[in-house]
Amino acid sequence: MSTGKYFSKTFDFNKFWSDFNSAACGMWDEIAIKLLGGTAREAAQHPNKVVDCPFPAAHGESKGIKKMRVKASFAGDGMYFCSCGHKSVLDMAVESGQFRTKFDAAVEVINAFKLNVKLPATKMKPKGLTKEEEAEREAARQAKIREREKAEAESHVKWHGFIKNLWERDLHKGLTRPAELYLKRRSLPVELIANPAAEDVRFGVSQFRGETLKQRMPLMGTLLRCQKTLKPVAVQRTFFTESGVRLKHAFGEMNDKMCTKILGSVWPVCTVVRKLLDHDTVHVGEGFETIAAVGGCIADGAVVSTMNDDGLAQYTVPSIWEDRVNTICLWADHDLESQAGYHAALKAAMRLQTEGYKVVVLYPNYGTESVDWQAIVQKEGLLNLPMELRKKALLKFASITIFEPLAINREEDDHDKQDHFSIAV
Ligand SMILES: [Zn+2]
Repeated sequence: MSTGKYFSKTFDFNKFWSDFNSAACGMWDEIAIKLLGGTAREAAQHPNKVVDCPFPAAHGESKGIKKMRVKASFAGDGMYFCSCGHKSVLDMAVESGQFRTKFDAAVEVINAFKLNVKLPATKMKPKGLTKEEEAEREAARQAKIREREKAEAESHVKWHGFIKNLWERDLHKGLTRPAELYLKRRSLPVELIANPAAEDVRFGVSQFRGETLKQRMPLMGTLLRCQKTLKPVAVQRTFFTESGVRLKHAFGEMNDKMCTKILGSVWPVCTVVRKLLDHDTVHVGEGFETIAAVGGCIADGAVVSTMNDDGLAQYTVPSIWEDRVNTICLWADHDLESQAGYHAALKAAMRLQTEGYKVVVLYPNYGTESVDWQAIVQKEGLLNLPMELRKKALLKFASITIFEPLAINREEDDHDKQDHFSIAV
């Protein structure tokens, strides 16, 4: 279908899209199911379920396996969330090659669902509905939106209870034996992660419902919080065996991590592995294990994980830390193919410097090898060094870019500020 014939000097495309979006609001689940196939369709049928991304080439090593989902609000906004990017139903229809343009896809939707949206070519106009039919359809649409909102509010309450129970009843602060073995196998700093002062990490036993396993398994739970308010919104669970082997290695499960639904679909989220205390530097990385490995080598400053590269790109200093933070260190992942981790860090850095922060982007440089920070800490045995030597040893493997603060409205202390992140050059 060509769009050429629609172009007319008098046709108002802005109005078209605005009318189209309001007509389609509340129906995106049905539209996606009609227009799309495969995992995109599956995701639309099951909000909050993670599915394989239909575009594996847009991903690195993960190939997009279990990276995409839609939220409970999908019928209203029609958005797909994936670590390769956020896409609308129409974007998906175009990207999968079924339509040449989003406009073509929209015309198909208008005709298929007889939406009351003015098209430029009379030929393509949907069969007119009577006034009564139109009113009936509108009432049905409104009822559906209300039903969604009600269901969402109910599920919010239910999930709030589920997360609270999981966190307070199934998980505890004390390090369990399987968790200790797990942390050691992964070369993760036990003293940082199992620190009694660490509020966002707990251990215990909980239900794992995988492809083959359906039983209670040892796990480490990390609390996910709203980045801005630090309000808890979800729990991420990492499962392992009694002997501390990741489930995926022990049983070939696709997943060894499971995240509860995020309350209120809040985004971006973070886990505070170490609080800011009386320091002025925040160390941020996109994955819990990556940044925990880094935090194990650096004695000072807050340590924060952002869940994924999009959470890193959108990194926001919590309101209660704003007055105390001066420097933000972004420890980028080493995604050789997509460079997603590095790009996410640069995106965050350019924004944060305009907010008045000094931003340090650190990218792993391990010769020609594509390795992440956690692997460097592991391969170099950095956690076996005395604490005071670890930071210097880690920085030997960092390519560093510094973004000086651009805003001048943040107050400077009168006395000389100590540079807590002194980089020996
Ligand atoms: Zn994707």
